[in-house]
Amino acid sequence: MVVHIDPTKYNRTCPRCQATVHGTDVQTCPECGGSMIPACMGCGYDLAGLPRDGLCPECATPVEKSYAPDLLENRSVAFLLQLHSGLGFVVWGILAKIVLSLGIIIMLIILMASPIASRNFPVSYAGLKLITHTLGFGLSLLVLVGWWRITTPDPARVGTDLDIKPRQVIRVAVVLQAAAELAALVAIAIGAGSSALALGIADVTAIIDFGNGLAWIVQFFAAMLYIQWLARRIPDTKLYTDARRFMWLGPVLYVVGAFCLMLGPLVALILYLMMLFTLRKHLTTILHRLGAI
Ligand SMILES: [Zn+2]
Ligand SMILES: [Zn+2]
Repeated sequence: MVVHIDPTKYNRTCPRCQATVHGTDVQTCPECGGSMIPACMGCGYDLAGLPRDGLCPECATPVEKSYAPDLLENRSVAFLLQLHSGLGFVVWGILAKIVLSLGIIIMLIILMASPIASRNFPVSYAGLKLITHTLGFGLSLLVLVGWWRITTPDPARVGTDLDIKPRQVIRVAVVLQAAAELAALVAIAIGAGSSALALGIADVTAIIDFGNGLAWIVQFFAAMLYIQWLARRIPDTKLYTDARRFMWLGPVLYVVGAFCLMLGPLVALILYLMMLFTLRKHLTTILHRLGAI
């Protein structure tokens, strides 16, 4: 399928077949014959049969606004603010997690290098593990809440959107990961209280971590598809191709690059963060233009 991103040509995307439909007056998609009458951009009300110069009976948004091209700048401010804050949560949450990991590594090096420091260290190993895991859990939750916000449904396309699949897959994966993170934290807390249980707990957390990892992998691919869909609507051709390329480049860097002093995963992480950051920057610009922030 040819994807048109040129803003002068780009008009609306058919919610059924995702063909680009030129002109905002088209009633049916020339590709699949599906309806091109939008839902209200403010509340999702079905606008079929309503005059173009009227107001939405539910939320009083001018009907004509919902017929505007599918670009993000034509969508409701409430929807855009959710995406914007969500991207902030994800980017800052990931950066804070990196800082936390570095902090733990530096602390462990100091403790191993200096027997005096480790003897006088106020917290037990199990206690320390619990503290760092609680901090890590909080940051993971921040990232997951961020993804939940980024995948807020667009009222204008609710129930009709092809992007609905990646969007919902991300949401399911996010819930699974939050549950896994919580289960792992509970297991570690139980293990910290009883050394007899600690060994069995280690097996349980390994299984939970494995499930968590699988959910993350699923989320990763869905997120790349979803970012492509959002990039089309900015429109940002570079971000679109970057997200598309990253679907294979990311895993390659992660798996192959892991053998090169972990440089591959680091590069993958930087590229991933840069894409999210770019998307957020676009949303900041759009929200500024709309006078919302
Ligand atoms: Zn169509
Ligand atoms: Zn409405």
